[in-house]
Amino acid sequence: MKICSITVDVDCLNSNFKGFGLRKPHYSYREFGLGLENILQFFDQYNVKATFFFVAKDVEIAENVTLLSAVADAGHEIASHSYSHPQGFRLLPLEDKTFELRKSKEILEDLTGKEVIGFRAPGWNISDDVLPVLRKLGYKYDSSVFPTSISILLKVLHYYAMRKRDALTRSTLGKLYYLVSPSTPYHTEERKLGEKGNSDFVEFPVQVTGFCRLPFFASFHLSYPSCIEMGYKTIKNRSIINYQMHLSDFVDYTVKEFSDEVPYQTGSYLPFSLKLTLTEKMKIWNKVFRIITEDYDYLPLKETLAYL
Ligand SMILES: [Zn+2]
Repeated sequence: MKICSITVDVDCLNSNFKGFGLRKPHYSYREFGLGLENILQFFDQYNVKATFFFVAKDVEIAENVTLLSAVADAGHEIASHSYSHPQGFRLLPLEDKTFELRKSKEILEDLTGKEVIGFRAPGWNISDDVLPVLRKLGYKYDSSVFPTSISILLKVLHYYAMRKRDALTRSTLGKLYYLVSPSTPYHTEERKLGEKGNSDFVEFPVQVTGFCRLPFFASFHLSYPSCIEMGYKTIKNRSIINYQMHLSDFVDYTVKEFSDEVPYQTGSYLPFSLKLTLTEKMKIWNKVFRIITEDYDYLPLKETLAYL
């Protein structure tokens, strides 16, 4: 059996723009319901059971709890994307990192009644010092290491786009050495998330293509849809792959209702997920899922652990 794990970072505009060092004056959470409803419907069509990484602070809001429950009740895994989505997670004092990991796990477990065992850092911005903390708190896997060959380029581009913001905001993509970390899921070394070893803790690196190690995930495919088939050919023989998506991939931000919620300030860039219409995005997702469905069954990460 070949397994594809679809992972969704449930980032609302608040988290997205925090990543750009911006604060939104007004925010409705309208996208939460719209996006999650679209995702659940789309995943049903392709028989996908996925892993949803939630920012726990978002579900402290009563109206959003029903949406979290709808995702869990549909058989998807709920995992942690931190408590408050700090872009500079890697640079925070260990005490603050521990707080983000503990608090998010507690909230999500309380609301769903299910154990939370997976973590993905905001902006893939993780560091090795959290590995003992993750294990102590009962996490069993992480999915933040992004071993792409264009890691340095992405770091520089992010730094340049954020040059007027604070140091925490300018940082992204974790430790530099992760760019040479294994590109297939692995048990980590005792103290290093980016190295293979014999620990009981698992890293599911963000998917990259074979050979060139270019990113193979939704945001990249929105910018370069012509790379989908070429990239897929280089990984389709692997027994386990994962495909990362975001809430924004299933929301139409070009409609009038969002015009006052997407800040078009100068000095920040807008990702394609906020610029394309939902119809344009769905065309791309149908293409991606059609080709993956031919070769893979879909399982959430927690169930994929058993196959490692
Ligand atoms: Zn995020």
